[in-house]
Amino acid sequence: MKIKKDLVVEMHYTLKNAAGEVIDSSKGQEPMPFLQGHGNIIPGLEKALEGLETGENCEVSVEAKDGYGEYQPEAVQKIPLEALKGIDNLAVDMELSSQDDKGNSFIVRVKSIEKEAVTVDANHPLAGETLHFSVSIENVRAATKDELEHGHVHSGGCSH
Ligand code: ZN
Repeated sequence: MKIKKDLVVEMHYTLKNAAGEVIDSSKGQEPMPFLQGHGNIIPGLEKALEGLETGENCEVSVEAKDGYGEYQPEAVQKIPLEALKGIDNLAVDMELSSQDDKGNSFIVRVKSIEKEAVTVDANHPLAGETLHFSVSIENVRAATKDELEHGHVHSGGCSH
């Protein structure tokens, strides 16, 4: 079965950054399942996997714009320390939930803590990076009706 929209794919992958450092890998775990064509994985990877079959391997380089987006300097902001005083153990790399003017919540990461302000970054940790994936396709199957309705894979512990 060739990978196309609405099929469930299970893949092993290793993700490296431009410097060749391993950022993430499914090695030693179950293959990662996703529903093709529903934005479960980054667009550049989804596109590259289209048409592959079980047993095939593929090396994919994904530009930032097709991955986690370009790095947005304006997404880095300073917040008065005063505004965060309810948070215990504030530390660099801690993730905080924030809200925009419209009340949508998003995650920011603490970049640095100064005397009276905290610099936070709303960019995805991999924003601006060209991503290099080594992928092996372990299984391709039809999605169930529920999976198609929900737009994601139900496996293991999913109970809704
Ligand atoms: Zn579901």
